[in-house]
Amino acid sequence: MIPSSNHVAMRGPLGDALDANLRGRLSHFIVDETSPAIAVFSPSQRAANVEGDWYGEHAGKWLYAASKAVARSNDAALAASLRRVADYLVSVQEADGYLGTYAPERRFMRPQPPKPWTWDGAPALRTWDIWTHAYLILGLVEASRVLGMPAYLDAARKIGDLCLHTLGEGGIDINMLGNHHGMSATVLMDPAVELYFATSEPRYFELAQLVLAQAEANPALALVSRALDGVDASDIATGKAYQLLWNLVGLAKLHRATREPRLLQAVQALWDNIQARHLTLGGGPWGGAGHRSREVFNPPHVFSPEGYVETCSTFAWIQLNRELLQITGEARYAEALERSAYNDLLGAQAPDGEDWCYYVFPNGRRVHTTYWRCCKSSGATALEELPPLAYAVHANGIDVMLYGASELRTQLPSSGAVTVVQDTRYPFDGRIRLRIGAERAARFALRLRVPAWAQAWSLAINGDPVDATPDDRGFLVIDRAWDNGDEVRLDVPMRVQVHHACDRNVQESRTPDGSPVAQEVLRYDYCAFSRGPLVYSTGLIDGYRLQETLPAVPTVDWIDDVEEGGQPAISLRLPGRAPLRFEPYYLAGGREDGSWRLTWLPLSPLESSASAKNL
Ligand SMILES: [Zn+2]
Repeated sequence: MIPSSNHVAMRGPLGDALDANLRGRLSHFIVDETSPAIAVFSPSQRAANVEGDWYGEHAGKWLYAASKAVARSNDAALAASLRRVADYLVSVQEADGYLGTYAPERRFMRPQPPKPWTWDGAPALRTWDIWTHAYLILGLVEASRVLGMPAYLDAARKIGDLCLHTLGEGGIDINMLGNHHGMSATVLMDPAVELYFATSEPRYFELAQLVLAQAEANPALALVSRALDGVDASDIATGKAYQLLWNLVGLAKLHRATREPRLLQAVQALWDNIQARHLTLGGGPWGGAGHRSREVFNPPHVFSPEGYVETCSTFAWIQLNRELLQITGEARYAEALERSAYNDLLGAQAPDGEDWCYYVFPNGRRVHTTYWRCCKSSGATALEELPPLAYAVHANGIDVMLYGASELRTQLPSSGAVTVVQDTRYPFDGRIRLRIGAERAARFALRLRVPAWAQAWSLAINGDPVDATPDDRGFLVIDRAWDNGDEVRLDVPMRVQVHHACDRNVQESRTPDGSPVAQEVLRYDYCAFSRGPLVYSTGLIDGYRLQETLPAVPTVDWIDDVEEGGQPAISLRLPGRAPLRFEPYYLAGGREDGSWRLTWLPLSPLESSASAKNL
């Protein structure tokens, strides 16, 4: 069981980001029914809208994120806005359950004209109607939970009923209702299962199964069967990262509902593929090389430090890891969450909590996006996912999933009220102090995640060193009787780690006698730096140059760990020039619009030529 978010208070960089989120976007972007993102639902605007746009998605994302923010903060003004906006949306739901932003002739219940083939698998008539309703269901279910309002859950049910009727008796194929060969509509699996969890009504479980069956019958999509065949994420439909990841969230939830092993196997196969081939060093799903679409995964083995990370993709990746963490309890999913949160997610947010980058690039300019863009709501929602995931509370213990200053307040069945206060400068420093508060002497297991980057660690209880080795889920387990005020100290030394990446292309041919031969015809090598969970970046070199070529892979004697103004930095000494200063990626350039971040530095071909030979 994961505790509700009002039990976890986060401080440190994630706490600052959450505070800014609440004070900024969540309190300003939507306030009431006159806010532009809600006014698009008014009967008059709806009746005139034949554009097929996606602006309606903001309502559901905001309902969901604001609900979580109210639960963790008890902010009265936000709670009042949440209630007012949810009440308004319920009031404009039509008798058949429709709650979108489209005129009747463009709604998802109308059959689409035949779909001409296009590379992006778009319907003949542009539509994001199912997509908008999918987020509305998630938002209304969450608002109903947090505010205790059954009317919001009823509105979500009516949407579910309309979808079930349309896709069932209505004879409409969901693949015709979303671009990317249907992926933008089959995301409905996630809210359908969520409705089933919230209501225990079998018909919403049927809805999710119906969407899955239609998706599997679509040869361009066929997510489960193709994932089990080992296909690369870039080869599913268009390879659109955000949509594919949201579909995987739905499949993971469907596994929770059915316990069908093949659903989990399919999700894990694609998780492994994405983790190995399609994440930046900062943990964001990325792609866009070749620029046919900025938002699709690259073919495997393509590496471009100028690749695009859409903040929506980082958001969906965090949600996927949330599901897998809940199903398996394995540390690797918490690790993936933490890495993307501290780097590519924070790296997309402006410190005022209002602005967000649509895209972030390992190497490239920071650009704060425009009013209606999806990523602003996705970034804000992704942050609100984090507090409930920082700790997992079980009947017999507590797992520490995310490191960073925070406080957990919970109840253990065997031990009564328990608090865990995490006191640390993490992610800048690997010294973590955990203070246990217990209303009475309590026996339970405290499990501490061993970070994947850790090369060593030490553990002490009340100052006495303790030996512990990670269990098969990746946690150090301390199972003991705790007294109020007991203190656990985990020290994980952070050292600079040098990463290497390579963009290469190999041409295959034959020799005159027919033997196969492969020749490397293109090769670029790059290096980058991390320290603990943080990726480090520098700005424009000497204030204007896009890059600096490294003469060789840096060794430890080139690197100085420094601290400037309370923030850690890395100083890289190169021959014949002033040292280069690297700072955490998310802080680089003062987090200002237009600032430049340089994460991957090219390596001299003279150095890499040693390995660039005929294969
Ligand atoms: Zn986006």
